[in-house]
Amino acid sequence: MKKVMVLGAGIGGTETAIALRKEGYDVTLISKKPYFYIYPISIWIPTGEAKFEDVIIPLEEFAKRWKIELIIDEVIKINPEEKKIVLREKGEISGFDYLVLAIGQTKKKEKGIENTLSICGNPEEAIKMRDRIIELISKGEGKIAFGFGGNPKDKTAVRGGPVFEVLFNVDYHLRRLGLRDRFELTFFAPMPKPGERLGEKALSMLDDMFKKYKIKKITGKRIKEFKPEGVLFEDDTFLKSDLVIYTPAGWGHPVIADSGLPVNEAGFVKIDETCMVEGFDYIYAVGDCAAIEGPPWTAKQGHLTEVMGHIVAHNIAVRDGKKEGALKSYKGHINILCLMDMGARGAGLAYRSDKKALLIPIPILGHLMKKAWGVYYKLYKLGKIPKII
Ligand SMILES: Cc1cc2nc3c(=O)[nH]c(=O)nc-3n(C[C@H](O)[C@H](O)[C@H](O)COP(=O)(O)OP(=O)(O)OC[C@H]3O[C@@H](n4cnc5c(N)ncnc54)[C@H](O)[C@@H]3O)c2cc1C
Repeated sequence: MKKVMVLGAGIGGTETAIALRKEGYDVTLISKKPYFYIYPISIWIPTGEAKFEDVIIPLEEFAKRWKIELIIDEVIKINPEEKKIVLREKGEISGFDYLVLAIGQTKKKEKGIENTLSICGNPEEAIKMRDRIIELISKGEGKIAFGFGGNPKDKTAVRGGPVFEVLFNVDYHLRRLGLRDRFELTFFAPMPKPGERLGEKALSMLDDMFKKYKIKKITGKRIKEFKPEGVLFEDDTFLKSDLVIYTPAGWGHPVIADSGLPVNEAGFVKIDETCMVEGFDYIYAVGDCAAIEGPPWTAKQGHLTEVMGHIVAHNIAVRDGKKEGALKSYKGHINILCLMDMGARGAGLAYRSDKKALLIPIPILGHLMKKAWGVYYKLYKLGKIPKII
């Protein structure tokens, strides 16, 4: 049986590993953490609606179910010419037939970033965010700023959706506690039209919601620096905040950047449409670590990541002659599909393709649908129910 080494056990690594097992490959999954952290449902940690344990899958259980060899260790080097990788504890590993990169992205460096917390970072940050919100609630008042940064080098790596979700969830949480009038919530972003990839209608809907929920907005102003007391903009105006929740744009993973593999200007590994890394016929990449090429509104998304995982397994099997069929391309699967949660009052179904740009409000049920998706997703990943979406 041919051996595939999958690096990273997030949405992409776990899905690719399942798909490769189904194609009959011997799979080793390498993860620096002993759990798979499901980002889309982590947005409820800051308001206490979900606990850390609710948004993880222990990898030991996952590996046992799918008969995957699991190594908990950090990949510190990839040597593509010699077909070797190096792990922090275990050292050098070779002797595999294929390598799949699924180690996600890092963040663009910004001045004073240590004064902010991101929902798109380490799980510990979401927990710290929750604790800071509890502190402010116990004080009975506060100013919270929410924002995300842009990436002119690779616009697919801008992550605004989860920031809006946390903002609307915090707003809802404070309303429920009867404290909303005592808190100032501000949204900020350097681009003039944050969220525009969802289309003009979605933008005006977001604006309406900001007005309805009395959320202040500062857009089109570049950020100079984050300070412990708030955000300093390029025109030297200052947004005073007790807590800044901010997601910088994504940036390529340093292990990939240092490997000599081809990367784009933002450090994402270049792949062809079959997800094969340019110039290396045994290396594939899926998800956030890859340079995704598509229409201007293209975003790095979980569901596209999963599709890429299946495409990789299929294409490896076809190239190996294990199955018949044409090679598949990820490009036809590029769209944006997400349920933007707004707390128990509902969610907005965001969809973007070449033909359509929609943001449909789904009161109450939308929130329950996202909750149900989380339950389904964990059961599916542990092989307890089949894949539906
Ligand atoms: C808060 C949030 C909410 C989101 N909501 C949605 C949504 O509603 N819908 C949607 O479609 N998408 C959503 N996304 C986007 C989606 O989660 C990502 O596109 C997806 O997680 C990408 O998967 P990935 O496997 O490429 O990366 P990741 O999920 O980031 O996984 C990378 C894995 O690699 C591991 N790793 C990193 N470095 C190393 C190393 N050196 N050695 C070993 N392991 C390593 C990490 O620990 C991690 O487990 C959301 C993202 C965030 C952050």
